[in-house]
Amino acid sequence: MRERIVILGGGESGTGAALLAKDRDFDVFLSDFGNLQPEHEEFLQKNQISYETGKHTEAQILNANLVIKSPGVPKKAAIIAKIRAKGIPVVSEIEFASRFTDKKIIAITGSNGKTTTTSLIAHMFENDGYRVGLGGNIGHSFAKLVLEQEKYDVFILEISSFQLDDIESFKPFISVLLNITPDHLDEYAFSLKAYADAKFRISENQSSDEFFIYNADDEITNEIIKTKGILAKKLGFSLKDETQAAYADDINFNINYPDKFTMKVEEIALMGKHNVSNSLASALTANIFKIRKKAMQDSLIDFDAVEHRLEKVLKVHGIQFINDSKATNVNSVFYALDSMTTPTVWIVGGKDKGNDYSTLIPYVKKKVKAIVCLGLDNSKIVQTFSPYIDQIIETDNMRDAVNTAYLLGKNGDTVLLSPACASFDLFENYEHRGKMFKEEVKKL
Ligand code: ADP
Repeated sequence: MRERIVILGGGESGTGAALLAKDRDFDVFLSDFGNLQPEHEEFLQKNQISYETGKHTEAQILNANLVIKSPGVPKKAAIIAKIRAKGIPVVSEIEFASRFTDKKIIAITGSNGKTTTTSLIAHMFENDGYRVGLGGNIGHSFAKLVLEQEKYDVFILEISSFQLDDIESFKPFISVLLNITPDHLDEYAFSLKAYADAKFRISENQSSDEFFIYNADDEITNEIIKTKGILAKKLGFSLKDETQAAYADDINFNINYPDKFTMKVEEIALMGKHNVSNSLASALTANIFKIRKKAMQDSLIDFDAVEHRLEKVLKVHGIQFINDSKATNVNSVFYALDSMTTPTVWIVGGKDKGNDYSTLIPYVKKKVKAIVCLGLDNSKIVQTFSPYIDQIIETDNMRDAVNTAYLLGKNGDTVLLSPACASFDLFENYEHRGKMFKEEVKKL
């Protein structure tokens, strides 16, 4: 009898896993407790994959030989407990997909900077002629990439900690752990250690001829790394310690492993210190792969921000508008403010995930001239910053926020949308928020 695979969740990851499983001749069933997006439903129908929505029918699920859990399905979901109680193995889609390919995998995880770094690494490889399968948490699921793997020389994957929760043998040739800062703690029983452990799992199956690239400036990483028996060659990147495999100061950008690559920091197109870190991690990865130095350098020079990440929108009457809508936590905003070089009108707010804004106070005092709140409940922001900032104005829609910020700014200033919060109170998602911002800026 054919083995039965049940997939929980029918988004990009779940539908990809379903198609790969069908292609490999498993008996496939997909179950989503919510509604499917029309495009995913169409995809399942077109590919004749049986599925259900709005429920989990136990009789259809608890007879599985293997369950693939989409990253969006909560670990605490009742159905997961029942599946585990029956002893049915549960894996993530990246685990499942990785069982069907021998191609090299570069996997990038961390709290912040994943999309930027993944895209930058892919850009370097493409500039050197590689055919890159770019996906995971961005773009196409890994499973979909594996289905067409003859088109690719290498996989470059953005991986979230949720996808790492359910791996068994997933084994990147190079794994990159960018940083660990508190986020999504609600899913990890509010334990930073549990969240950090999930991220370190990216290295757990690697062997000694493989590579683990980590942020040597990150305190939590440095603590946890001591407790792990990582077999892969550990290579640090740093803005403080020049003995690391990759190091940059304010002027020079140096990769020291396996051979030398140097350039000037000012040539790098991406803004901000955090992006120098991301660039170090990217260039170190490329250097291990022996990507041509010229391709690495050109990529760093011409790779401008990914949309919604410190993306320069327009200058209006000398005021630079920057869209950092993806900054949905305090740490991202910390780096955004750090990279501001002119007086800044800061647009902040949204759905607060339990933020502690106090780490931002020194930067706000130094760089922010006015605050425009954009959210349904701005009380915490007003409370935190009103002792330091005279002008704090509350708005509840993008048009008012942009117009207010424009009036508060003057020639030479920056207006920065960097919300520190999720977008769901007023927008569909952070992309929608960023797009609305850009539209309103264009109307000015
Ligand atoms: P992710 O995919 O991990 O969410 P992104 O590349 O999409 O990361 O960036 C998300 C936000 O974090 C943006 O506001 C960006 O400017 C900021 N950011 C990028 N890299 C870093 C980093 N290394 N440390 C802190 N913040 C960062």
